[in-house]
Amino acid sequence: MEEKKLVIIGAGLAGSEAALQAAKRGIKVTLYEMRPNKNTPAHKTEYFAEFVCSNSLGSYDITNASGLLKHEMEILGSELMPIIMKSKVPSGGALAVDRELFSKNVTELILNNPLITVIREEVKQIPQNVPVIIASGPLTSDELSNNIQKILGEDYLHFFDAIAPIVEKDSINFDKAFYMNRYNKGSKDYINCPMNKEEYENFYNILINAPRIELKSFEKDAKFFESCLPVEVIASRGIDTLRFGPLKPVGLIDERTGKENYAVVQLRQDNMTASLYNIVGFQTNLKWGSQKELIHSIPGLENASIVRYGVMHRNTFINSPKLLKPSLQMRKNPDIFFAGQITGTEGYTESIASGLFAGINASKYILGEKLLELPTETVLGALTHYISFEGHTSFQPINSNWGILAPVELDKKIRKNKKLKNEILAKRALDTIKSVTEKI
Ligand SMILES: Cc1cc2nc3c(=O)[nH]c(=O)nc-3n(C[C@H](O)[C@H](O)[C@H](O)COP(=O)(O)OP(=O)(O)OC[C@H]3O[C@@H](n4cnc5c(N)ncnc54)[C@H](O)[C@@H]3O)c2cc1C
Repeated sequence: MEEKKLVIIGAGLAGSEAALQAAKRGIKVTLYEMRPNKNTPAHKTEYFAEFVCSNSLGSYDITNASGLLKHEMEILGSELMPIIMKSKVPSGGALAVDRELFSKNVTELILNNPLITVIREEVKQIPQNVPVIIASGPLTSDELSNNIQKILGEDYLHFFDAIAPIVEKDSINFDKAFYMNRYNKGSKDYINCPMNKEEYENFYNILINAPRIELKSFEKDAKFFESCLPVEVIASRGIDTLRFGPLKPVGLIDERTGKENYAVVQLRQDNMTASLYNIVGFQTNLKWGSQKELIHSIPGLENASIVRYGVMHRNTFINSPKLLKPSLQMRKNPDIFFAGQITGTEGYTESIASGLFAGINASKYILGEKLLELPTETVLGALTHYISFEGHTSFQPINSNWGILAPVELDKKIRKNKKLKNEILAKRALDTIKSVTEKI
């Protein structure tokens, strides 16, 4: 009998989930990962499924599109979701993990799987005549990028995401900083550094005058996502823009004074032992010396020990609307599937979800079964349809949001009640996913 084999390029979030999905279906997987022999500009370890920036996966609530996607993934049998749940750290309403614990556990699970062979090597060319999932991520190596470009015959697009700095908790001055979640929701997970008007204006002046890292020529047209804008780009829009964005003071009353502050910098727990905290919304392209000056100008962080500076990186994604079917299989070459951020979906949760979906579909392809296409009543279906929709005039990556789901007929009163509307959409999505799952 012919052996059922699949090659996967990249053991990141998408590739790891895809490999486990295929192995679960009896497929022999060869999983290529270039780290630690060759690193990306953002990864720090040799572990699989590394979170390169924030340790938060966003909401787990079904009334949030990203939260609903996580529930869909669980119903579809995600292998990474249970590991995420086991590596959780407190983070208010969000789902955040101890990144090292999570990645170590994923690595162990893969290395112990008898159907998965791991090869620590950079893939420079897409393998021919064998089903393959390309999950090499936003920082795909240059040689592979060139080869993919040659095979696809389509132009790549480049832009940047930015990493926020991380500081040691023990170096934070709690005479000034205080623990509190916005509107006192849940336990006190966030550390808040309050600013008065004068302190804020001083901080703002340092920020807008700080030198930035010079972009390379092909990087100059960088397009940022609104949700991941560098702090200096937000600041450049006006002196108060940050106070309505990441430095919003509302709902953060300092219990010691009983007052709301002029601005508040928030820090989120970054590791299980709570020794490290990242500065929320401070993804940046500033030079490291300027970052230090800026961070030390924040009340409570005067002596903060910075363990990782913010940096900016390339993001590589293909022109999916021209290349992919909603099953994540290439239109022109059925042996090739894409998964993860390289498909033009954005975010940790989305990357794992697309790895899950590509893993299921590549297995089905190998087993001679009909491929799965999820309806747009589901978040995952809406995402895969969005990226493969040929009618885009200008394609930009997307993350989970309610706007891409199939609309639902609701009376005016319910439409105005966002929570209720989202609950209805969520119920519809989960019922749909459950009915699909019975068939896979
Ligand atoms: C700097 C940066 C910060 C980000 N921050 C966030 C964030 O805070 N929150 C969020 O939700 N999303 C964030 N993202 C977006 C995205 O969700 C993550 O990048 C996510 O890890 C993408 O998953 P992936 O599986 O597609 O790629 P990755 O997780 O990057 O996995 C790809 C893997 O392929 C390997 N690889 C690359 N080329 C080759 C090759 N030629 N041969 C073999 N192996 C190869 C890489 O080493 C890597 O392990 C960020 C992206 C970047 C670049």
